Order: sequence, then C-alpha cells, then structure tokens
Amino acid sequence: MIPVHTVYPLPTVHYTPLARWREERPTALIYSAAAWQATMNASLRLSLAWQGEVTEATEEHWQQLGADLQGEVIYAIGGGLAMDAGKYLAQQHGLPLIGVPTAISVDAPWTWAAGVRRDGCVRYLETGPPKELVLDFELLGAAPPSLRAAGICDVLSIATGLWDWRFAESEGRNPVTERFIAYAAAAAEAILQGSLAAAAAAGRGDAEGLRQLCDCLALEVQLCNQLGHSRPEEGSEHYFAYAVENVMGKGLPHGDLVGPGIVLLAGLQGQDVAPLRDALQACQIPLDNIPPAVVLETLRELPAYCEHHQLPFGRAHTLGEEDLEQVNFLALG
Ligand SMILES: [Zn+2]
Repeated sequence: MIPVHTVYPLPTVHYTPLARWREERPTALIYSAAAWQATMNASLRLSLAWQGEVTEATEEHWQQLGADLQGEVIYAIGGGLAMDAGKYLAQQHGLPLIGVPTAISVDAPWTWAAGVRRDGCVRYLETGPPKELVLDFELLGAAPPSLRAAGICDVLSIATGLWDWRFAESEGRNPVTERFIAYAAAAAEAILQGSLAAAAAAGRGDAEGLRQLCDCLALEVQLCNQLGHSRPEEGSEHYFAYAVENVMGKGLPHGDLVGPGIVLLAGLQGQDVAPLRDALQACQIPLDNIPPAVVLETLRELPAYCEHHQLPFGRAHTLGEEDLEQVNFLALG
C-alpha cells in the first residue's frame, strides 16, 4: 500500500541579476538586517507595503512579526531564517512567497518546511515551498565568505545521512515508510559527488560553482520530497548540530554546527573524512568554533537526546564511552 503523502514541487528558480528583476505588486518584506542592505546595493526595486525584520526561529516570533502584515506578495530576503519565516507567513496569510537568498547558507530556500526551535530541538512545520526564487550570483558571490557556500553542509550531510539510513536498515530500525531504497541512495550519492566537485569554486564565490551547488541542493530537496522523508540527507550530523545548538546558543550559523557534525560523525562511522573536510574547508566553514569539551559532552549525551526527541535511528543513537576516545579533534583543525 502507498502511504498517504504529498509531493511538493521545487520553487520556480530564476538565475538573474536583481537589477533586472521586475515586481509591480505591493510587497511585504521579511528580511534579516545585513541582507537587506546587500540587496539594496544590488538594485532590487520593490514597492514596500510593509516590512519586518526576523530575528528568531519560533512560531511565536513569526506570528507577532506578521500580525499587521500587508501586501499582495511576500519577499523573503536573507538566509535560512528569513526564508523559513517567509514560508510560514506566506502560508498564514495565503500569499505567494518570492525568496531572494543573499547567501547559499542552507537548503531552506528550496524546501517546503519551516524549521522552528522547540523544546531544545528543531521541528519542521509544513508550509509549502516558496513560489519563486531569485538568485543573483554576483550578490551571492559577495556574501560573507563563511556563509556564502555554507549550504554545502546540507548536501555533504548525504555522506553521513546515507550511512545512517543503510545502518538503520541493517539493524531493522527503519519504519515501513522509510525503508532503504538502493536507487535513491545511488541518486543521493551522485548529488554528493556533484557538490564535492563544486566545493572549491563555490567557496571562492565563483558563479559556476555556486550555480552547481544550487543545483545539488535543489536535487537533494526534490529527492527527499519524492521519498517523503529526509533520510538520504539528514542523520546523526544534524542531530549533533541540533543538540549542540542548545549549548552554543542561537548565534552560530547552521554550517558552523552541521559542518563539524559531518566530520565527527563520519569519523565515528568509520568513513574517510578527508574529502568531506577538504570540501568544508574550501567553503570556508569554521570547524573549530565548538570547544572540544562541548563536543565531547554533546556526543556523550547524544544517544539519550536522540531517544528523547525520537529522531530516526543512526550512529548517534549507538555512541558509547569507547567511541568518545576515538574522536579525532585534529580533523577539526
Ligand atoms: Zn541542514
């Protein structure tokens, strides 16, 4: 029997300079502060009916923010937080959303869900995807170096996510709706290779590299949409990131948390971490922002954390004291 499940599409994507983008409708603008300045400089012209700055990934904040929202279309300008708030408010107000990412820092511009922080974990609200994305590679290439290609984390996480998915299958821990599918794993593996090949150019801010990274992110998202779950892309590396965020606070970008998670968990899975670490470093993602003591404590608590939040089974669920002795901090140097 086929389980009941909606397959969302990707947004319509426009690769175009913002100066050539035309918008006539009265616009509600959701932005993060630094990002709005960058798009003004890139000559994006909008007639604003309302604007609001997003600062937090909670439903309460988004509801307050959008209480008096006006306009016929919503524009979200910024990184993942602005996109997620935009998706949420677009759904609440029944308006189309146009996303204008100012850095390729996460896969959120392509996804149909908004990540919110709730009870110390990240939960995804079903919102539908943005209707359209406008991607200006000159603007994206000029983003802060550690952010502009940090979204590679959401494709490099295929390396650790796939390992977990396969492991869960061999342990008989995949629910019937999430059984391991070999061709889907092979497709994910190909997307991973595409992102590894694009890492150096994307990290430099070259348009071709960023374009390939965007294509990899879109393909990763659509693959998960078809399957109805994120097992090919999200596993123990994301669990580590969600758990460590509680200690490190909300200030650190997604890549600063998921990047080290990929290197640490790939190591604990017995994988060769070198190609992953090289790609992360090429994309200028800081791997050493989390103090070693916090890394160890987070790994120690990760099995209980995964149980508590009922996260899909993976390597993180099985970590023990003997594993902590194997953690290679040199790989995070
Ligand atoms: Zn992610």
